[in-house]
Amino acid sequence: MKTTDALVLGAGIVGVCVALHLQKRGRATVLVDRRGAAEETSFGNAGLIQREGVYPYGFPHDFGALLRYGFNRTIDAHYHPSALLEIAPFLWKYWQHSRRRRHARIARLYAKLIEHCVTEHDALAAEAGATGLIRRSGWMRVFRTARERDLRLEEAARWRQEFGLQFATLDAGQLQEAEPHLAPILTGALHWTEPTTVTDPQGLALAYLKRFESLGGRFVQGNAASLLQAGKAFSVKTVQGSIEAKDVVIALGPWADVVTRRLGYRLPLAVKRGYHMHYRAAGQAVLNHPILDTERGYCLAPMARGIRLTTGAEFALRDAIRTPVQLGRAEPIARNLFPLAERLDTEPWMGARPCTPDMMPIIGAAPRHANLWFAFGHAHHGLTLGPVTGRLVAEMVTGNAPFVDPAPYRVERF
Ligand SMILES: Cc1cc2nc3c(=O)[nH]c(=O)nc-3n(C[C@H](O)[C@H](O)[C@H](O)COP(=O)(O)OP(=O)(O)OC[C@H]3O[C@@H](n4cnc5c(N)ncnc54)[C@H](O)[C@@H]3O)c2cc1C
Repeated sequence: MKTTDALVLGAGIVGVCVALHLQKRGRATVLVDRRGAAEETSFGNAGLIQREGVYPYGFPHDFGALLRYGFNRTIDAHYHPSALLEIAPFLWKYWQHSRRRRHARIARLYAKLIEHCVTEHDALAAEAGATGLIRRSGWMRVFRTARERDLRLEEAARWRQEFGLQFATLDAGQLQEAEPHLAPILTGALHWTEPTTVTDPQGLALAYLKRFESLGGRFVQGNAASLLQAGKAFSVKTVQGSIEAKDVVIALGPWADVVTRRLGYRLPLAVKRGYHMHYRAAGQAVLNHPILDTERGYCLAPMARGIRLTTGAEFALRDAIRTPVQLGRAEPIARNLFPLAERLDTEPWMGARPCTPDMMPIIGAAPRHANLWFAFGHAHHGLTLGPVTGRLVAEMVTGNAPFVDPAPYRVERF
């Protein structure tokens, strides 16, 4: 049996950042994943480091949207009818937490994490030599109708007042100048100027992993489900044999429940699945910013590999068969908006956003096991909050003063 100071289970962006921050603080850390690093959810996201994302994505409360979702024909959301019974308790809680006043209260707590997302990524990217993967030109919500544009601009103005967020407003002409290859069918854009964006989300995670290894950290393949507690230590089985450590961090994203349930924690977790596909931009067409086609509900992001189309939320069981219907619906609409040439991937990619009903991640000590730590449930913002979570967990594990008050994110709230 080998021994180390800390084990981090799960090498998505969250686990990699936790491991790097622990190793930086002098804890000999072994990062364990059953696959390579960032090959699951952290592989295929839209690459937005959402400094503006102080309001986590809520469940819609207006009747029109609910009705549209009920017919299951929208692009931004899709559900498996067969999963509804099982996920109904989660959806009910999610709906309650999304009520206006509660959502606003959650945003005030959540903003304390979000406000550090750009600076914490910048710090890690600088030491990892990966600043070249980060763009500093923000991202845009584009609008087809004046009504939606005005609603969203009003909302942005409120957020600016409450949280100091910065944005620019573009009319149709200014948008054409900023993005000359978008079809001239839009009424304008809301340009969030503070967020940064990543041209290769997996590449960024791998750069952080390399930095972790250069500091002496080790990445080993193993099965988190083999986690055992023996006295004051934990052990896990890996391809290099069993490894024992005093501290264990569970950073398994959508698979966190596989381990937490065995340890006796019943947590209200669910997933929102999402898909992507890459396209070559036709001819000399260029997309300068990631854009969200607001009324249609999909993203187009310029990535190192091509233009990445990402879809909204699919409510389904994590391991249910893939049903990329949203991608099928979005593709022809995206082709009318921007000149996309052929698909570059043989199959649509799918990931599962790990969600909690109050839309905030679970970060902190496990209440019934000493030296067991939770870092999962980052939903739409795992890329955004990976480094913030990594630092916060490492500070708690090493007994240093946390740079953000961790109390709102404790698992005890459920
Ligand atoms: C379409 C889409 C677009 C998105 N866009 C954005 C965006 O623009 N910005 C943003 O901030 N977020 C975005 N997200 C969300 C973001 O990708 C996730 O929140 C984030 O990747 C979660 O990271 P994680 O490390 O918690 O989980 P994961 O990346 O899924 O990592 C979990 C790891 O655990 C491992 N694992 C599972 N079971 C075991 C086991 N038994 N043993 C060992 N290892 C195991 C897996 O192999 C995996 O590597 C998007 C998500 C999707 C689906």
